[in-house]
Amino acid sequence: MSSDLSPRTILVIEDETTIAQAVAARLRSEGFAVEVATDGPGGVEACARLAPDLVVLDLMLPGIDGLEVCRLIQRDRPVPVLMLTARDSEDDLVVGLAVGADDYLTKPFSSRELVARVRALLRRSERTAVAGAPDLLGIGPDLRVDVAARRVTRAGAEVHLTPTEFDLLVFLGRRPGQVLTREQLLAQVWGYRDGSGARTVDSHVRALRHKLGSDVVRTVHGVGYAAAERATAGSAA
Ligand code: CA
Repeated sequence: MSSDLSPRTILVIEDETTIAQAVAARLRSEGFAVEVATDGPGGVEACARLAPDLVVLDLMLPGIDGLEVCRLIQRDRPVPVLMLTARDSEDDLVVGLAVGADDYLTKPFSSRELVARVRALLRRSERTAVAGAPDLLGIGPDLRVDVAARRVTRAGAEVHLTPTEFDLLVFLGRRPGQVLTREQLLAQVWGYRDGSGARTVDSHVRALRHKLGSDVVRTVHGVGYAAAERATAGSAA
């Protein structure tokens, strides 16, 4: 595929020039095409112009803050967002994930960690459409997922999901009723191997329930999560 030949484009939105330049230099050295924006409005504009494969977004920005930037760029087009935060605050994290960030790094972070997260996010967004897997999923009584088109409808009404929410829903929905641990989900959906970030899974499950209904994903206490089985008894599939 031609996508393997052209470099992935990453937009870095960060007002601290030292960090922005260090992040950009490291990502360029890894073969990415990188553009930097230093404030919120510039970031939104650059995102619309570049249609990047991924956005690295600072939470604390002058003008429009990172949460609002995230909301604005996700509204136009789903794009994976890695949020940078200086505040190790549960509230900011939950809000960030709710508005469409797919992952986060708390400053200070190593450039090796940054590259690992970026690559994991890109791998994930590229492999959701699995060869041979069905392109249309039914979850519960009235949820339908068109995997190729990345569209979700509940009772016929379209629901907008972030890229991570969509990938998590597809992963669970392909294994109806099967209980998956947070560690399995982190490894398979997020591409992490070290088992950290359980609350990232919880936040995204909360977001899915908020958007799609609490019955879509079942909590198995002490174990993990399972998607509702498709309720088709007595009806045509
Ligand atoms: Ca900042």
